[in-house]
Amino acid sequence: MLDRKTNLPFTIGAKSDRGRKRRRNEDYFGVFEPENEGLTESRGVLAVLADGMGGHFSGGEASRMAVEVMGEIYFKAAENAAKALESAFVSANNEVFARVGDGKNGVAGTTLTAVALFPDAFIIAHAGDSRVYLARPGRMDQLTKDHSLVGEMMHKGLLGREEARNHPKRNIITRAAGLRENVEPDIDGPVPFLSGDRILICSDGLSSMLSDGEIAAILLSKDPAAACKALVDMANEKGGDDNTTVIVAMRD
Ligand code: MG
Repeated sequence: MLDRKTNLPFTIGAKSDRGRKRRRNEDYFGVFEPENEGLTESRGVLAVLADGMGGHFSGGEASRMAVEVMGEIYFKAAENAAKALESAFVSANNEVFARVGDGKNGVAGTTLTAVALFPDAFIIAHAGDSRVYLARPGRMDQLTKDHSLVGEMMHKGLLGREEARNHPKRNIITRAAGLRENVEPDIDGPVPFLSGDRILICSDGLSSMLSDGEIAAILLSKDPAAACKALVDMANEKGGDDNTTVIVAMRD
């Protein structure tokens, strides 16, 4: 559980939960804020979420490693923020691939979704079926594509949103960090970050249990930490089939 007022004009909450069916929590998240003021200005605050997959303990290892490498490399890379985000993403992929991917301990990989937050905009780097939503009073949009078999069918118009949410093959991921030698993350932004805006980053444990309408109602009516708790509680009330992790950032 995390509830933090940052040095920048936004508040961040986060929560990760094992759920009701899984024995382990293989999701992982991190919120990284540099202590150096210059870096805060050029890099902002970085929120990262990963949902690990793979046998034995390697899924959990993959997600933790990916988040930690992102947090470390992003603030070191000597480029602009979008490039630094991409470099950090590639480093995370390489590290996971070398350590737990590639058939070591059973093939492992992880979804990886990172958002670099600035006072007036944010940038997303993403691979996998975790999601980023942007909510403003009266509306909520999913900003990321689901890199999954079902997500691709949905983007092609072959499946409706609700059908996709309940599809038996929804767990087949088509892009992730650590599965292959190379990864090409989707990079989006800068997207304007306006007063009152809420950004939600979540693992599929949330989006497979709750409809977009249910997510929006909670996200728009509570402060970040309270919204995180309510979202996880609702996913568990509906069965808690998977690990659920959420990060919510709200612009003051
Ligand atoms: Mg999951």
